[in-house]
Amino acid sequence: PIILAIESSCDDTGAAVMAGGKILANIVAGQQVHEQYGGVVPELASRAHQQHLLPVVQAALQKAGISKNDLDAVAFTQGPGLLGSLLVGGMFAKSFALALDKPLIGVNHMRAHILAHFIEEPRPQFPFLCLTVSGGHTQLVVVRSPLEMDIIGQTQDDAAGEAFDKTAKLLGLPYPGGPRLDKLAQQGNPLRFPFPVNQMPGYDFSFSGVKTAVMYFLRQQTQQNPAFIEENLADLCASIQHTIIQTLMRQLRRAAAEYGLTNIAIAGGVAANSGLRAELQRLADELGWQVFIPAFQYCTDNAGMIAMTAHFQYEAGDFATQLASPDPRLKLG
Ligand code: ATP
Ligand code: FE
Repeated sequence: PIILAIESSCDDTGAAVMAGGKILANIVAGQQVHEQYGGVVPELASRAHQQHLLPVVQAALQKAGISKNDLDAVAFTQGPGLLGSLLVGGMFAKSFALALDKPLIGVNHMRAHILAHFIEEPRPQFPFLCLTVSGGHTQLVVVRSPLEMDIIGQTQDDAAGEAFDKTAKLLGLPYPGGPRLDKLAQQGNPLRFPFPVNQMPGYDFSFSGVKTAVMYFLRQQTQQNPAFIEENLADLCASIQHTIIQTLMRQLRRAAAEYGLTNIAIAGGVAANSGLRAELQRLADELGWQVFIPAFQYCTDNAGMIAMTAHFQYEAGDFATQLASPDPRLKLG
């Protein structure tokens, strides 16, 4: 099938065209407007989606060399995400599908982050264990097939991406701090400042402890030496990153052992973290895992992953109706 997919769950407006499971175009327009506020402002995000959506869809169709009449289906992100943002993409997709008399496919954004792995080689074999680490979610998911997945653990408070962004903010780094903290960490000593690794039973996660520990530690140190952060920035970044990664890896290792899974994947924007990638590779050697990490452009929000998921849903006959409405808290599975 030839599918047009729309992504508008948060602050990136995306459109992709996929034919027979192959990406023909994948266009993303980001939104700079949020930087000055240090985080995504929902109302501004919806407005920017309104502005970006038509040009992005047009660019995707043009790049793919596909006319809208050639489409077999129109897919959109149904949730989870910001309601206003989801509404803009969802309403567009519904109108477009209605006007063209084409079937509609509603996609779960978190399923799509996982199925981004199937856009390019090497594709993981089922069943596999996926650690999804993004700006809003941290989930351990047993993936049995494209449409059968179970969440076995998730964060009880902040997402891993939030833990990076919030601790980066405490260090005075501009939003979003995750990628900057990663870069600085590469020059630092990860064992210099030991922060607590969360020891939650089961497979859930918690990152509020590390955030609070960093906050109190910095407050105490800067009272004695106002230049403490500046003088130790790389070591602080490396130590914080190390703690977040150890928290993630502890649960990942335990779940992999318990479920007897050796095909291990990571997904979401934090999968871009260089320390996380290196640690995963190291564990692969130690434990005989086969690890899968998507290309960067398919880790962060993009419509290519929505198209890939819609492709599987199309094959399974899983279509939406005009009654489909966005669900900010749409559940996986
Ligand atoms: P969700 O899918 O849960 O709604 P999202 O799609 O907005 O969230 P992503 O785009 O997948 O989130 O990821 C963004 C997050 O990834 C941000 O918190 C950002 O700081 C973090 N991030 C991106 N690159 C890195 C990196 N190299 N190191 C650490 N964190 C990173
Ligand atoms: Fe996302």
